[in-house]
Amino acid sequence: MDGVGIERYVGLIDAEIIAAIQRAARSIYGLRVLHVNSTFHGGGVAGMLNSLIPLMNDVGVNADWNLLYGDPAVFAVTKKLHNGLQGEDVEITQEEIDAYLSINQTFALYSPVIHHVVIVHDPQPLPMIRFRQRENPWVWRCHIDVSAPNPQILKLVSPFILRYDEAVVSTEAYQHPSWPIDTSIIPPAIDPFSEINREMTADEMDQKLAEYGLDCSKPVLVQVSRFDKWKDPLGVLETYQRVKQDTDCQLVLLGNMATDDPEGPEIYAQVVQKANELEDVTLITQTDPLLVNALQRCAAVVLQLSKREGFGLTVSEALWKGTPVVAGQVGGIPLQIDDGKTGFLIQPGDYDSAADRILRLLKDPALQEACGVGGREHVRRNFLVPRLLLDWLNVIRELA
Ligand code: UDP
Repeated sequence: MDGVGIERYVGLIDAEIIAAIQRAARSIYGLRVLHVNSTFHGGGVAGMLNSLIPLMNDVGVNADWNLLYGDPAVFAVTKKLHNGLQGEDVEITQEEIDAYLSINQTFALYSPVIHHVVIVHDPQPLPMIRFRQRENPWVWRCHIDVSAPNPQILKLVSPFILRYDEAVVSTEAYQHPSWPIDTSIIPPAIDPFSEINREMTADEMDQKLAEYGLDCSKPVLVQVSRFDKWKDPLGVLETYQRVKQDTDCQLVLLGNMATDDPEGPEIYAQVVQKANELEDVTLITQTDPLLVNALQRCAAVVLQLSKREGFGLTVSEALWKGTPVVAGQVGGIPLQIDDGKTGFLIQPGDYDSAADRILRLLKDPALQEACGVGGREHVRRNFLVPRLLLDWLNVIRELA
């Protein structure tokens, strides 16, 4: 099973973190904590909850997980809110807002909240708080890049956010003057024992790649991401085209469809059209965590050319496997990459620079190796799930 039992981390992370977790948990043993989000799989939030919740339970906090059952129409509205909070101009009608509120109202009626602390993730279940009798602290955990939000959308969601006792964001850049509630910063983290990140043998890797007709005989460039415009998959194809003119290589774009992201199929169709003009491009939409793992391991370079990115777990995932990453200098990505040392940061949309950095890595195995070693150590120290657990225990302790 993935990530159950804090003792698995002994020897992998600093012992002080494990001791600090036990100390922090001691004062809140038996406390009931509820996490609420809107999808069980697809996207980083679901992945993180899958690892964090068993660990919370393991150290003595009773953590539950509830899902908002949205329908596609409502998820189209919440994706607009997501896009608006990331700065896009979006139009939302009163009818759409009513549908969003109505589904949250129904959800609130069906969800018993018998917990001491409630943690609500992202905009989908954000208004649920309005429809509950408040007895205990509620936390809004915002995973998205809110460094430059669209003012209209900010105005729309602020009344809900202001009802919360605390907000939690991924980096300082997301602390917002419009939300003068207490705000903590908790960067996300990866689970080294999950199917996405666990060790794989060379045979296992080859087998997994072969299932998809892939092999690493030509250097592989990989981006693992939902087909989302903020992840700029078309920009990845542009960049690949430039690299391929100089050095023979192949590109794999792997992106599953999250149930709460209705834009995926539309973006995917655009990607297919452009990819058809290029050679040695493989597009995969299957959900297969071991394939993510194998690809991030076999890649010469992992790309994450995002234009906005709450954090970008895929960056830490690749670095953990010793693979250098070329990524957009946005959101939480600069926390993870030391430019020139564990990979390279580029300005979003600067495909010439992206291609230049990729070529530098492809032509310099020693640089690839050095980036990999430094990257893994950086992730070990900062972005493994026990540190995330400790941060949450401290927030819960303060609130309870
Ligand atoms: N992921 C996956 N399969 C895919 C695409 C993504 O398992 O086809 C995983 C990826 O490895 C990472 C998470 O989904 O663990 C995405 O998290 P990230 O923070 O990178 O982006 P988000 O989708 O949350 O914006």
